[in-house]
Amino acid sequence: SYVITDACIDVLDRSCVEECPVDCIYPGARMAYIHPDECVDCGKCMPACPSDAIHWEYKMPPELEPFVAANAEFVAEH
Ligand code: SF4
Repeated sequence: SYVITDACIDVLDRSCVEECPVDCIYPGARMAYIHPDECVDCGKCMPACPSDAIHWEYKMPPELEPFVAANAEFVAEH
């Protein structure tokens, strides 16, 4: 799935939410999160983000990998 990372924190632009065809992007208090089981890997959210906060899980900077779990944990709790 695609993953939202730290560049979204306190930006929360939400442009990605409108692009997602399956409505699997969930805004939290400080950033948004993608539901990994609902995401269909279409990639439409990525260019919509003005902060470049969205990455494909298999092609992301190593230091951002903790956000894979962070996205999954947020949607599991909400
Ligand atoms: Fe939604 Fe597509 Fe982005 Fe997945 S890759 S979150 S389905 S817009």
